[in-house]
Amino acid sequence: MAQKTDIEIARAADKLPIREIGARLGIDEADLLPYGHDKAKISQRFIDSLKGRPDGKLILVTAINPTPAGEGKTTTTVGLGDAINRIGRRAAICIREASLGPNFGMKGGAAGGGYAQIVPMEDMNLHFTGDFHAITAAHNLLAAMIDNHIYWGNALEIDTRRIVWRRVMDMNDRALRQITASLGGVMNGFPREAGFDITVASEVMAILCLATDLTDLQNRLGDMIVAYRRDKTPVFARDLDADGAMTVLLRDAMQPNLVQTLENNPAFVHGGPFANIAHGCNSVIATRTALKLADFVVTEAGFGADLGAEKFFDIKCRKAGLHPDAVVLVATIRALKMNGGVAKEDLARADPEAVARGCANLGRHLSNLKGFGVPVVVAINHFEGDGDAETAVVTDYVRQHGAEAVLCRHWAEGGKGAEALAERVVALAESGASSFAPLYEEQMGLFDKIDTIARRIYHADQAIADAKIRDQLHAWEAQGYGHLPVCMAKTQYSFTTDPTRRGAPTGHDVPVREVRLSAGAGFVVAVCGEIMTMPGLPSRPAAEKIRLSETGHVEGLF
Ligand code: ADP
Ligand code: MG
Repeated sequence: MAQKTDIEIARAADKLPIREIGARLGIDEADLLPYGHDKAKISQRFIDSLKGRPDGKLILVTAINPTPAGEGKTTTTVGLGDAINRIGRRAAICIREASLGPNFGMKGGAAGGGYAQIVPMEDMNLHFTGDFHAITAAHNLLAAMIDNHIYWGNALEIDTRRIVWRRVMDMNDRALRQITASLGGVMNGFPREAGFDITVASEVMAILCLATDLTDLQNRLGDMIVAYRRDKTPVFARDLDADGAMTVLLRDAMQPNLVQTLENNPAFVHGGPFANIAHGCNSVIATRTALKLADFVVTEAGFGADLGAEKFFDIKCRKAGLHPDAVVLVATIRALKMNGGVAKEDLARADPEAVARGCANLGRHLSNLKGFGVPVVVAINHFEGDGDAETAVVTDYVRQHGAEAVLCRHWAEGGKGAEALAERVVALAESGASSFAPLYEEQMGLFDKIDTIARRIYHADQAIADAKIRDQLHAWEAQGYGHLPVCMAKTQYSFTTDPTRRGAPTGHDVPVREVRLSAGAGFVVAVCGEIMTMPGLPSRPAAEKIRLSETGHVEGLF
């Protein structure tokens, strides 16, 4: 039997009306704001009413350094959530919303895969409940207000060469990376170089995901730095009086979205910041709400554990006061082979020796994660064609390193295929063994934070930065930003800043190329290597195959 595509499986789903999913969580119909029949936002009134309730257990799903296709973190998050429900415990899932642009390129959807998916997957991968459009609008309102302010006399004395607020769009469009704006004469303002990023790279997105409520949202929006004056002093969004109107545009977008899995379990899908220049996790408001409503909340962080888990712990959990109870480290035989030196074209061939070499990558992530004080279990996300000998190599390796690896078949079988993992995760989370602590203290200097992450997580000799960058970090410390956590932006494919160095390399330095202050989101971004804030489309974009069928179904969306 030919394997069904994700969209075929999703379309055949036996969905429940969203009010029934809400009812299972104890959400009254009056507090569900429906977007059609299968999606709803949750009212602020209801969220406020949850204060004081105890929290469920928080479980993070992360991964080893991946192959370019992704290793199935989302798929495993969904499969594990379904499996915990199957073994009779109440679990909810928290994942990110999808960015529109990459769906028309080549990335694949963001709703999981196979029989472990969130539905309606077409909606989730397209306009969903409009949150990203609202973020785009709020971001661009601020951009328009900056140029308008300059046009009408520039009372704030913005240096037009030092405007750091770009425009955004939720599309992959390399033609807009660098533009010249305000052309066409006196009536159109002062020509200047500008450019576009993709919406998920907007600081507004990161803020929406870290803000605890609308008041906090507005404060953070006001704190964003949009430009500098000639004397290098910052101009804030608040100085332009933009924070109020932006908050109005974002009011609905701040409410978490409730949908369901293929197995009719609740899933909160909310927010979607980039995992490079931002922290790559779903919203704090969704995670906190889910923790009040379910006994177990399974969530995911972008990229491998060196980036995603570290930021989840050091940025999201620290800032939101969350206390993770267990971590699932997803590994695939394919990614282990790649980490063992096998080329992408040769992954189909059985090669237990390469798997054994690649286990060095897994082992390093395991010990890093244990360093945060949270118990870890390894999930081997089974792909068709994985050999038993290859799997045995991994289970043995993990056992020797004081943890357990569980083979999972949720992609092929749904929740049933991850029951063994669910049993293990529930036991770990309930054991009380977690003694979570972030990697570094807030009062540590900004460069020392970067260096600590480089040494302790990437196992580098040191972080290096030239005087200009260190001076910038000192200047921010003097301005009162020294307590902020650091958001690392580097390749997801390696512990180093070189994507081709797989496995568990040593003897490398981590050069910091640039630093950026996201004063509203509340972190300092350390850019190590190339980062892309406006992707392009490949030579044959998926868009060429996406269309409506005669029966009105979306075709070609993976
Ligand atoms: P991540 O969240 O780590 O980026 P995803 O869960 O989105 O990864 O999965 C990436 C892609 O791999 C998806 O298209 C998904 O359908 C596919 N996939 C995941 N697990 C499996 C599996 N066990 N077998 C086949 N394909 C899989
Ligand atoms: Mg994912």
